[in-house]
Amino acid sequence: MSSPSLDLVALSQSIKDWGRELGFQQVGIAGLELGEHEAHLERWLAAGYHGEMDYMGAHGSKRSHPDELVPGTLRVVSLRMDYLPGDTLMAQRLGEKETAYVSRYALGRDYHKLIRKRLQQLAERIQQAIGPFGYRAFVDSAPVLEKAIAEQAGLGWIGKNTLVLNRKAGSYFFLGELFVDLPLPVDEPTTTEHCGRCTACLDICPTNAFVGPYVLDARRCISYLTIELKGPIPTELRPLIGNRVFGCDDCQIVCPWNRFARPTEQGDFQPRHSLDNAQLAELFRWSEEEFLRRTEGSPLRRAGYERWLRNLAVGLGNAPSSIPVLQALEARREDASEMVREHVQWALAQHGR
Ligand code: SF4
Ligand code: SF4
Repeated sequence: MSSPSLDLVALSQSIKDWGRELGFQQVGIAGLELGEHEAHLERWLAAGYHGEMDYMGAHGSKRSHPDELVPGTLRVVSLRMDYLPGDTLMAQRLGEKETAYVSRYALGRDYHKLIRKRLQQLAERIQQAIGPFGYRAFVDSAPVLEKAIAEQAGLGWIGKNTLVLNRKAGSYFFLGELFVDLPLPVDEPTTTEHCGRCTACLDICPTNAFVGPYVLDARRCISYLTIELKGPIPTELRPLIGNRVFGCDDCQIVCPWNRFARPTEQGDFQPRHSLDNAQLAELFRWSEEEFLRRTEGSPLRRAGYERWLRNLAVGLGNAPSSIPVLQALEARREDASEMVREHVQWALAQHGR
């Protein structure tokens, strides 16, 4: 805990400076009031829009009360880090149906480790300045309402596409949080939203996953279907997925605020293994060993090999008929996984086989 003589205003400025030195583009400080967001989440869960993501429903009131999750917490430092790779042609890839589309956040190294390490470094800097204090770092963690916290910390507003949007930076950024037991001055929350009458994200969604503005039925979202869903992808949604084999960015690509998105400063978030320009058929030929080797340290690992093949089979089913596409599918007609076999059969049927 801090000493009474601590200059908290100066410390909060230093935390922001150190955060930027550590590669975060923006740092804000939030208090603990998140009540309205908890009610929104409860309604969303009650409607079943979270699908198989049971972890979203766990943790009860701890989600909206950071001080219940980490006793002693007084403030949450919310930080954002841009991840948009600079020279990627990914939007173009969406139109190239035989090429795999991998969500922009997943083209490089997994962000969890990198951001956690930077948050730890930030905590150490604070400790060097003021001595021991209580803290805990979170990155993409289920019990933390990170978007609500970011809004409270003044980092942006939650847009109709349910992502945090920033007028100067769009939405291609990761969020991290440092819970602290320091009574720092809080930043002005973002209270105005700037979506206005725009509905571009709602209109573009390939699977019509938005129930309405600010409400996403994750069960229809391609990010959920290709990453979180463990079982088969519902047949009626498969043709709508196109060549998106890991996540989807459509509701960000179309967002006018992303004209202001800046390329990432992190080399780690640049595409690896040519994932921004890989043929579906070529990826479908990877053995499990190859998959594990090539996805080491990558968010793609999260899907696992079987789901990766399942997704690629759907992409190949949606690709134009060609010899490489048909050969790749035929080679896995007898795949060891029942789920993969079923998706391969579906894909071949799309090509009249
Ligand atoms: S990520 Fe894609 S599928 Fe999911 S809501 Fe956005 S546009 Fe729709
Ligand atoms: S596309 Fe339009 S409505 Fe959707 S989040 Fe962006 S500004 Fe808001």
